[in-house]
Amino acid sequence: MATLSIQHPIDLRSDTVTKPSQPMREAIAAAQVGDDQYGEDPTVRRLEEDVAARFGFGDAMFVPTGIMANHIGIRLQVGPGEELICDADAHIVAHENGGLAAHAGIQTRTLPSVRGLLDPAGLAAMIRVGDRYTVGTRALEVENTHNRGGGAVYPIETLREIRALADSFGLGLHLDGARIWNAHAATGVPLREYGAIAHTMAVCMSKGLGAPAGSLVLLPPGRSEQARSLRRRLGGSMRQAGILAAGAQYALDHNLERLSQDHENAARIAAALRSAGASVRDPETNIVLVDADDAPAVAKECFAKGVRISAFGPKLLRIVTHLDVSAQDCDTAADVVSSVLMQSPERG
Ligand SMILES: *Cc1c(COP(=O)(O)O)cnc(C)c1O
Repeated sequence: MATLSIQHPIDLRSDTVTKPSQPMREAIAAAQVGDDQYGEDPTVRRLEEDVAARFGFGDAMFVPTGIMANHIGIRLQVGPGEELICDADAHIVAHENGGLAAHAGIQTRTLPSVRGLLDPAGLAAMIRVGDRYTVGTRALEVENTHNRGGGAVYPIETLREIRALADSFGLGLHLDGARIWNAHAATGVPLREYGAIAHTMAVCMSKGLGAPAGSLVLLPPGRSEQARSLRRRLGGSMRQAGILAAGAQYALDHNLERLSQDHENAARIAAALRSAGASVRDPETNIVLVDADDAPAVAKECFAKGVRISAFGPKLLRIVTHLDVSAQDCDTAADVVSSVLMQSPERG
């Protein structure tokens, strides 16, 4: 193995591990605040208005987490005992602990996809018009970029086709845009064009943008009161939340333009692993998926060597780049991961 001297752990488990920078902490310390349950926190309001405008929506609502943003966005369009269609690897079905079913009685029906991206024709074949004997479809859900799909990006044309399909059946369309910022950075498609395909949308400030917490749900016209009531029911209404919104605002103002660096770093890691002989999916954004015969064992061994990556399944590793890792960190990490992957052939 190459001689490696790792001064600090290189954490590539997720883009959620970033810590607020000194200037972000200063913005947080200086935030004007008020009681947001009275609608009186100016920093929260400013963030909500800014994010809504960027996506061409009339209103947005700040919530503690992306899961809550997805839940409220979907709940505004689908009721108990009603059906939502999404891909089988969607975050809402794989990683939200059954929340749509448990809290809202929503039935999800899923279809397989390639890298998480739905094919409009396959989707069209799934939609059911309801009657007395048949559960009708109420909404569709898409995820962009797709987490389990390895940061895969929808072509905007496909999203427009899915929206046209939703319109033709009178269905809602929710966009899980936790990493929509990465899609925008990778394609150059304006945020407004992503906003235009969705009735509701969830965006996360604490992934690649690097805020310590917070997401927003983008709201259809006339639904703000209902959305705020749902947030309160879920226990997600906060008070002087401007402390958090200030970090999110700082992230939006300073960390959006740099996301392409994370994509370059992901491509660097993928290229290095591939040239060492690993089986790697081509990264489209900041997520690299790598095959391994025993992913948990590889992740554990890398951890012991100072490089943290995720076992994303028994045979799949996930490596995520973000603003707290440099190109040099990524080169070092790629050396460590490839040495661990390759040292015992039955692992690689
Ligand atoms: C992270 C993530 C979310 C939201 O997760 P929280 O941990 O609740 O912020 C939603 N969707 C996708 C695709 C995600 O990656």
